[in-house]
Amino acid sequence: MPQPLQLEQFMQLVRQRNPHEPEFHQAVEEVAESLIPFINQHPRYLEHRILERMCEPDRAILFRVTWEDDAGEIHVNRGYRVQFNNSIGPYKGGLRFHPTVNLSVLKFLGFEQTFKNSLTDLPMGAGKGGSDFNPKGKSDREVMRFCQAFMSELYHYIGENVDIPAGDIGVGGREIAYLFGQYKRLTHEFAGVLTGKALEYGGSLVRLEATGYGVVYFLKNMLEFHRMETTGRRCVISGSGNVAIFAAEKAMQLGMRVLTLSDSGGFVHFKKGLTAEQLAFIKQLKMLHRGRISAVAEKYPEVEYHSGEKPWGIPCDAALPCATQNELDENDAKTLIAHGCQAVCEGANMPCTKAAIDLFLASAVLYAPGKASNAGGVAVSGLEMSQNSQRLSWSREELDAMLRTIMRKIHDKCVRYGQEGERVNYLKGANIAGFVKVADAMVAFGVM
Ligand code: NDP
Repeated sequence: MPQPLQLEQFMQLVRQRNPHEPEFHQAVEEVAESLIPFINQHPRYLEHRILERMCEPDRAILFRVTWEDDAGEIHVNRGYRVQFNNSIGPYKGGLRFHPTVNLSVLKFLGFEQTFKNSLTDLPMGAGKGGSDFNPKGKSDREVMRFCQAFMSELYHYIGENVDIPAGDIGVGGREIAYLFGQYKRLTHEFAGVLTGKALEYGGSLVRLEATGYGVVYFLKNMLEFHRMETTGRRCVISGSGNVAIFAAEKAMQLGMRVLTLSDSGGFVHFKKGLTAEQLAFIKQLKMLHRGRISAVAEKYPEVEYHSGEKPWGIPCDAALPCATQNELDENDAKTLIAHGCQAVCEGANMPCTKAAIDLFLASAVLYAPGKASNAGGVAVSGLEMSQNSQRLSWSREELDAMLRTIMRKIHDKCVRYGQEGERVNYLKGANIAGFVKVADAMVAFGVM
């Protein structure tokens, strides 16, 4: 029987085996801290070296993507697909197109995805991929040529029963359409190999809204469980992409006041709360015209724009970081706590630094990790896969009800494994609940 695991030794090994991958180290440490005591109490996980195995992706595929811009100039980018773990279903996870994409970022995202997908209770393994290609400022034709070149290599490794990518930062409906079209052309097959598709060619209602709506459903569950009201709460949201926009929409529908949205240039402050008209404008601005959030303040004089700043200094009851990793640090956490913030619910993946999380856990703030609170997106992707397999489509009402149920069940699992006296440690709850299902499958398969 191997010796019980020790966090520091374990992390030393992870750092040694994966040098220069700080995001991956951060994601593993966050999980290992809560899992190691649990694993040490369950010898079969220890004996089968499950945590060590879970920290190694099944494989990481790296490829060259060469494409031509509108001026005929040739560009070379790097493409990736990290197939992390397929113990409970085919690999599933988004594609990110952003200049910061590298192996460390995709390994952290794929690792997180293992726990997230398990929490949904749907049969989905974990993967993540993307490229350091920057779609910002590119014409539609350039994005099309890039996506076609990217898929021309990726298609060898994916399939509706093998690996089903979706969108993430920089990959929305336009990119999914180009990728799907190219897959169809290359394989001569119409298969549900990507999710996040448009309705015309096999997409699902509610997929677009699912991550953001799910975050707010999770927040509501968390507040209700702690006998707190949702209505009237002041909400500070970062980002203005897919997740942020629909988190804002659902928060408003539930009677919350949305005070901010942001992008990488700065944040906008809606002093009286975001209005339905402003939200409609932002959807057009961001989703159709790919504009900057500062344009909201140019159009509405009552909205203030803070260039180069993050929104966490605005006093609020709930904070929803929905932009990117490590966007909320220790100082931001101190500010939120000092202003009496009661809940932090992650829409993005790993948006809070470890130091920020430690502060939340040591305070009265309710903290929900992204792997639990943003799982609504991949959950509805799973439902899109089911609809594709059955060649049918469910109604908006049915899907929204399923999403709400899935988010409630994830919440309840976090409570089951994370209750510590009067408090719920949602991080610990999500890590353990997500781990158990995958670990049991891995033990059942034997040594491989
Ligand atoms: P989008 O590309 O639609 O939007 C990303 C938003 O985050 C934009 O407003 C962008 O601003 C901002 N942003 C990106 N990078 C930075 C940065 N370095 N600093 C400040 N702001 C930044 O992506 P999504 O909304 O889809 O994804 C947001 C987060 O949610 C990611 O962490 C993603 O992994 C996670 N997520 C997404 C899911 C989905 O279904 N889409 C599912 C689960 C998690 P700008 O335009 O200026 O770059």
